[in-house]
Amino acid sequence: MPGFEEARRIVLEHAPPLRTEEAALLEASGRLLAEDLRAPWDMPQWDNSAMDGYAVRAAECAAAGAAGLSIAGFLPAGRAATAELAPHTAVRIMTGAPLPPGADAVLPFEDADERDRKVVARRQPLAGDHVRVRGGDMKTGETVLTAGTVLGPAEVSLLASLSRSFVPVFRRARVAIVSTGDELLAVGDPIAPGMIYDSNGPALVAATIGAGALPTLLPIARDDRDALRELLAQGLHADVLVTTAGVSVGDRDLVREVLRELGVEEVFWKVDIQPGRPTAFGLAPGTLVFSLPGNPVAALLTFQLFVRPALRRMMGRRDPLGSTVAVQLGEDVATRRDRVTLMRVRLDWRDGNPVASSAGRQATGFLRTLVTADAVAIIPADRGTIPAGTVVDAYPLRDDPPIAGR
Ligand code: AMP
Ligand code: MG
Repeated sequence: MPGFEEARRIVLEHAPPLRTEEAALLEASGRLLAEDLRAPWDMPQWDNSAMDGYAVRAAECAAAGAAGLSIAGFLPAGRAATAELAPHTAVRIMTGAPLPPGADAVLPFEDADERDRKVVARRQPLAGDHVRVRGGDMKTGETVLTAGTVLGPAEVSLLASLSRSFVPVFRRARVAIVSTGDELLAVGDPIAPGMIYDSNGPALVAATIGAGALPTLLPIARDDRDALRELLAQGLHADVLVTTAGVSVGDRDLVREVLRELGVEEVFWKVDIQPGRPTAFGLAPGTLVFSLPGNPVAALLTFQLFVRPALRRMMGRRDPLGSTVAVQLGEDVATRRDRVTLMRVRLDWRDGNPVASSAGRQATGFLRTLVTADAVAIIPADRGTIPAGTVVDAYPLRDDPPIAGR
């Protein structure tokens, strides 16, 4: 039975990046760039003014002193200068306008007095002042974005400045989700004695979207072979099939059996963690199969800790596991003799450091505790009681980190 870290390593080994595709720039937000990208031209493409003011030759401006320079023209942004700056003249120039050939500095309006079509510097500019130099931001051929970069607003800005209307990105993983169990009702069904609503299906749809992948929630599969076979076979068309429940050793726990009949090769069953022990992982051609426990807390935690890293790797993330936060335990915590405990914790900030305290009752049936939790702290096995103040790793459960001082 693999331990927590080992199981995650095994999953990642079997999660190769998906093929790539072109995304329209306006739909590329959140996608991962699939290739290094080089600047096709210098940015800026020409020397241009960083201020509204006057384009001058700095030396002439200094020599003219109080006599000033004649104003020989006007250059708004968007108009390329054609003529060379005539000797002993200045040109009014707006921010972003290309510098006329011959000019080497911009005298900002703030530092100038204009009278009788002449401009006098109140403070003398030096060559290069307020000039944005061609290629100062990026040079032709320079790598400006690397494969694996998440495309956020800043990256989209850069791509737009280079007129990229399409960009190569990793394909988003398609995830089929099947909740199994005779006791399950679909959300909105009339309530019935002994039955419960399927919360895992919708939860895993949300978690899939949170990981940047594309979910399909298939109908609930009853605990019988034929129903399971039909729905699991459908799910195997996706890149990733995720099932919940039916993987412990109860009489009706048929999921692994039916998956085997469908040709899924099991890589592991059971991971040394609590909750989430019965988690199974298998492979079919072109599909990763995760059979998660039915318990809603276990289902969601095992999704975040095993399935999400696999999805991230498939979609090109360089850091599929995400980063952990070193947190101090805010209270004494009893460890389990035999396995790692995934403890749901709240994070509070004390003296700038994250301190983890129990998010509530740790019984695996208690969904509320998951709602109040900010992170899962990884509590090692067999250490007796570890005292408050001990530092352990925690995985954030929310994409927005908790706000310091909350
Ligand atoms: P199982 O893994 O089938 O033994 O289920 C463990 C527990 O999780 C049982 O209490 C189930 O009723 C519950 N459970 C299973 N599937 C779901 C689901 N889709 N939504 C909510 N609870 C579930
Ligand atoms: Mg069951």
